[in-house]
Amino acid sequence: MKEILERAYEEGLKYTDQGQVATYIPQLAKEDGSKVAIAAYDVDGSYFEKGEVDKRFSIQSVSKVITYILCLEEIPAGKIQKAIGVKPTALPFNSVLDLELGDGKPRNPLVNAGAIAATALLYEKFGEDTFDVVLNKIRDLADDEDIVLDKSIYESERSSAFTNFALFNLMVSRGNLSADIPIQKVADAYFKACSVLVNVKDLARIGYVIANDGFDKISNEEKFSKDIARRVRTVMAMAGMYDYCGEFAQLIGLPAKSGVGGGIMTASKTGLAIATYCPGLDSYGNSLVGIKMLEYMAKEMDLSIY
Ligand code: GLN
Repeated sequence: MKEILERAYEEGLKYTDQGQVATYIPQLAKEDGSKVAIAAYDVDGSYFEKGEVDKRFSIQSVSKVITYILCLEEIPAGKIQKAIGVKPTALPFNSVLDLELGDGKPRNPLVNAGAIAATALLYEKFGEDTFDVVLNKIRDLADDEDIVLDKSIYESERSSAFTNFALFNLMVSRGNLSADIPIQKVADAYFKACSVLVNVKDLARIGYVIANDGFDKISNEEKFSKDIARRVRTVMAMAGMYDYCGEFAQLIGLPAKSGVGGGIMTASKTGLAIATYCPGLDSYGNSLVGIKMLEYMAKEMDLSIY
């Protein structure tokens, strides 16, 4: 695996000039597209890494996985089912049309509307502590106390979040979320969750826990239930790479979640997890070099679960 991972990294380096860093969040436009990293836990727990593995970047939509895990742990199942679907989508991650077609009910918890709705459910329970609860969960799953909020990314997100507010308002206007909900506060918790700084090692570790049915084989602790892990891997496979999920399933065949910060986290039922980083994105908002590296690993190691 070490050799294949290193070759995957070399393969990825060939494509660093092809992706585009996200610009719709002004602070992300400053990222350096030539930074590449890959980290992986093999089924036996051995760990491999290559590249800029200590480089911190905003977790962005990978946080949606952690928010969903928290929801499944803390909120009654019926309430979640009522507010958020578990359907794939053929439209972009922040599509207002997709939400409109669903009559104000988000398709799944891994598109923006679904994660905002999940944050709203958590807010009903945790109020002003919601972001801290999410942050602590990310720290716990990654076993990394140095994970902190990047205030400048959060502020940049907040000031450019017109589409996210459109999604939020549509969910309230269609009665999917209560009109009493403090929109700005819930949105802040969502923006902050996206603006948490992680590195590729953190994502590999979180992926490794999800891959191993919620059990952290390194610390020997159960972090969440097997049933939750199964549900989470399912939505990752179905929606984690947005409207590229079908192609990703054929090409790579691993449950995965990407973020516009450039991270991708995968978690295979076989117990293996690979995480990648490179901030240049493709037209779907997924890390272009990350996909190239995962494609290489999946082909060489026959990783597809399908
Ligand atoms: N914070 C980003 C947003 O809300 C997350 C999107 C993503 O990573 N795909 O638009």
